Amino acid sequence: MEPPLTPSFKVVIIGDENVGKTSLVRQLCEHKFETSQTPSRVVDFHIKPVELPDGWVKITIWDVAGPARFQVVRESFYPGCTAAALVFDLSTHITFDHLEGWLEEIRKVVPQIKILLVGNKKDIEHSSPVNLSTFLKKEVLIPYIETSAKTSEGVEEMFTLLANEAHSASKSQ
Ligand code: GDP
Ligand code: MG
Repeated sequence: MEPPLTPSFKVVIIGDENVGKTSLVRQLCEHKFETSQTPSRVVDFHIKPVELPDGWVKITIWDVAGPARFQVVRESFYPGCTAAALVFDLSTHITFDHLEGWLEEIRKVVPQIKILLVGNKKDIEHSSPVNLSTFLKKEVLIPYIETSAKTSEGVEEMFTLLANEAHSASKSQ
C-alpha cells in the first residue's frame, strides 16, 4: 500500500513528434494502446505512484508536444523538473539524430536535469541507430532503455527508472 505522504517529483517526456511519448504514458497509466495518432495537446499531465527500493514516490509526468513551433511554450514547463525521459523512435533514425537538440533545449533551462534515454517502438522491425553507442559513450551518465508502448515491453521499467533518476537527483541536492 502506498503511504499517504510520499515525495513527489515533476518529470517531463520529450522527443520528436510521433515517437510515442503520449502512447507510453497511456500504456503506463491506462494499460491501453491506440494505433491512431493522438492530437497534440500542448501539455498533458498524469500523476503516478511508483515503488522504489527505499519506498514509494509519486511522479507528475508532463507530456509536452514535440513540434518545433511549440518550443517557447514547452520551455515554460521545464522549470522544476528533476528528470526527463528523452524518447526517440527506433524505427525512424532521424528522431535519434535530433537528440542533441532536445538535450540542448532542456539543459538550457535545467542544466542539472537527469536524463533517461528511451528507444521506443521496439516491436517494429528495425536496425539500431549507428551512432547509439557513440552517443552513450559521450553521455556516460544517461541510462538507456528500449520500450514498446504497443506491447508494453519495458514501459513499467522505464517509469521506475525515471522515478529513480528524479529521486536520486533530489537526494544529491
Ligand atoms: P507522440 O507525438 O510522441 O506523443 O506520439 P504518439 O504517442 O501520439 O504516437 C504516434 C504514433 O506512433 C501513433 O500512431 C501510435 O499508435 C504509434 N506508436 C507509439 N508507440 C508505439 C510503439 O511502441 N509501437 C508501435 N508499433 N507504434 C507506436
Ligand atoms: Mg503526444
